[in-house]
Amino acid sequence: MKKAKIFLIISILIWLTLILVFIFSLPSTLFTDPYSTAVYDKNHQLLGVKIAEDGQWRFPETKYISPKFEACILNFEDQRFYYHFGIDPISLIRAIKQNSSSKKIVSGGSTISMQTIRISRKGKSRTYYQKIIETILAFRLELSYSKKEILQLYASHAPFGGNTVGIEAAAWRYFSRSAEQLSWAENAMLAVLPNSPTLINTAKNREILKEKRDFLLKKLFSKNIISNEEYELAILEPIPEHPNPYPMHAYHLVNRAAKEIPNKNSQIETSIDINLQIQINEIANNYNQRYKTNQINNIACLVLDVESGNALAYVANADINSATPEKAIDMIKAKRSTGSILKPFLYAASLSAGEILPKTLLKDTPLRIGSFSPENYDKTFDGAVSADEALARSLNIPFAILLKDYGIGKFIYILKSLGLKSINKSSEHYGLSLILGGAEASLWDISSAYASMARSLKNFNKYQSKYSNSDYHEANYLKNSKSNEHQDLRDWSFLSASAIWFSLEAMSSVNRPGDEKQWQTFSSKQKISWKTGTSFGSKDAWSIAVTPDYVVGVWVGNATGEGRNGITGLRLAAPVLFDIINVLPAYKNWFEQPYDDMILANICKQSGHLAGENCCDTVSTWIPANGINTEICPYHQKINLDQSENFRVNSDCYPVDMMKQKSYFVLPPIVETYFINSNHWYQSLPPFLDDCLQSQQNLSEQIELIYPTNLSRVLIPIELSGDTLQAIFKLSHRNPETKVYWYIGEKYYGFTKDFHEMGFKLEPGSYTLNIMDENGYKISKKFKVICGD
Ligand SMILES: [Zn+2]
Repeated sequence: MKKAKIFLIISILIWLTLILVFIFSLPSTLFTDPYSTAVYDKNHQLLGVKIAEDGQWRFPETKYISPKFEACILNFEDQRFYYHFGIDPISLIRAIKQNSSSKKIVSGGSTISMQTIRISRKGKSRTYYQKIIETILAFRLELSYSKKEILQLYASHAPFGGNTVGIEAAAWRYFSRSAEQLSWAENAMLAVLPNSPTLINTAKNREILKEKRDFLLKKLFSKNIISNEEYELAILEPIPEHPNPYPMHAYHLVNRAAKEIPNKNSQIETSIDINLQIQINEIANNYNQRYKTNQINNIACLVLDVESGNALAYVANADINSATPEKAIDMIKAKRSTGSILKPFLYAASLSAGEILPKTLLKDTPLRIGSFSPENYDKTFDGAVSADEALARSLNIPFAILLKDYGIGKFIYILKSLGLKSINKSSEHYGLSLILGGAEASLWDISSAYASMARSLKNFNKYQSKYSNSDYHEANYLKNSKSNEHQDLRDWSFLSASAIWFSLEAMSSVNRPGDEKQWQTFSSKQKISWKTGTSFGSKDAWSIAVTPDYVVGVWVGNATGEGRNGITGLRLAAPVLFDIINVLPAYKNWFEQPYDDMILANICKQSGHLAGENCCDTVSTWIPANGINTEICPYHQKINLDQSENFRVNSDCYPVDMMKQKSYFVLPPIVETYFINSNHWYQSLPPFLDDCLQSQQNLSEQIELIYPTNLSRVLIPIELSGDTLQAIFKLSHRNPETKVYWYIGEKYYGFTKDFHEMGFKLEPGSYTLNIMDENGYKISKKFKVICGD
């Protein structure tokens, strides 16, 4: 009795152990192989695929098996798949019979489940011992997985020749289509392939492959799975002669997704529109070929949907087919010098803060702040120019002054709020060159910022004249990325709706002089807002366009950072931009004017300021609501004239009852000097009547020094011979024809008339420049001479 009890306990224990071993025999994850990154467009079209880390083309596990492939594979491999538990006794007995008669394994008799196990335990020899293990595991597999799941695992991991793994990879490899779209003949060929994957390699093998395929097709026909007609057509289809390359319409996006998305075992669905992507690839490649002849090798284009911020096209380097290593660089994500591309943000910020009005005159005269001395692209000065024109023409000096007035620190805050995260250094680091390209940002961030701005304006009316912070967000390339809920509606935003509206208006003239001051015509079917930019050293050409539906960003240059003569935003990036605009669908309506953030005001036509009592030519127009706080026109003055209206007079020298008053537009002398050249309507003040000269106030206002602007450090260049060159001084006189006498200290150097410029040869040291005109007006300036190169 006792013995029997012990025996019973031991046998129970053994059985328990066996059951436990059986339960845990199947690994929790059957396949641990790395996957290819397969990236799809918004309609599930394959954009591109990146090879898996182990050098295999192994698409993420497929969740869908086409009924055609299922019929093919089951009829070829495992007819009773749905009726067995992993082992098919009928085919197993047949296999054992066949193998014992030929003394080796000719037939596996394997079910799909057994084959799935075998593939997962790769490298195991085909012995009887391994076969038994596989059989047990196949049974175990059936307990944990449904039939559909087992079929999916098999189809995803079966070998299809070479480094092609899984049905989806094979479908693209041999037929350049997704597995879902394959014909009966194509599915039949793929069903045959896993058991003899080398059959695809040579012409002779392909004959055998065709025989096997046709045999399977006949079987399908005989079982009434396909019709006679389907069968006849199917056997006519040829076996593909060579494998095809996998599609690659968005090389850099696929690589970006591979890097940024950790789980590779799922298809990556993006927001890209494959048709647009292909069109823009073509546009970019065409320009790329052209520009390459001038050693300008790289182009990047990005199209964003304004409403969602979704990327619709992502061409990060058109150079993909070249042999250069730079082709791999994603120029949409690369940080590059911004050139003038940030100017609209400063214009909008200044409008929003109520510091300027859309057409306020900005100074455009020689400028030096410390060592900073910006120049306009064409190296000329307009004296003064309206802010919107300064933006349209991308003038550097007015914008440097605007930035100085607005505040660099405040502007960095605006840029950060716009999502330009790479602009993260101090105001001192950037200085005023921040607005002229002294900072770096990516096409991705810049385009995102413009899209956010347009979105905020677009939603302003929708939100009943309120703002949502969630309108400002980075672009995204994944389909169905979480768009923020617009709950935090508020009355204020760092860029007001009207400021954005006016900025887009200023950017919207399609024909206009560009950076180079040449008139360029770009044809666009619709109104668009756009801006170009060129970085220092001709390294980066930018252009950005904004419409109510899209933001298009283009960068042209060399990924290596090499500059080339002729690289400008207008010449190189704008043509690409307009070609892209012209393939985009037309929008229905332009942005709605945000009237709730505007007021009607009387504006001085000449100065663009709020009209004052002396302004004679005014217009009632909409301005940003905050604009009511801006300065009243400082330029229009009531001037007292004599009876003839040819001379200025004052009460000390002329009878008051005989005076005539007239309103004059009076710019500061230095501004006037340049302004008058391009504004022929400008009327200088008439001269004083002789008797009134001495009593005239504000003598110094008659004469103004133009340069040097930095008197504490007048640099005199030294020639190679060691001789010092001259220090050049230049001034403007309210009445240029007046004679001006030049002195250094007490020493007289000569006089000038009409054109007031004088050179002095001076040793290093401190001096005083004394200037007097023929009427006795004087100015005196101390300066320091430093020699250098
Ligand atoms: Zn005025």
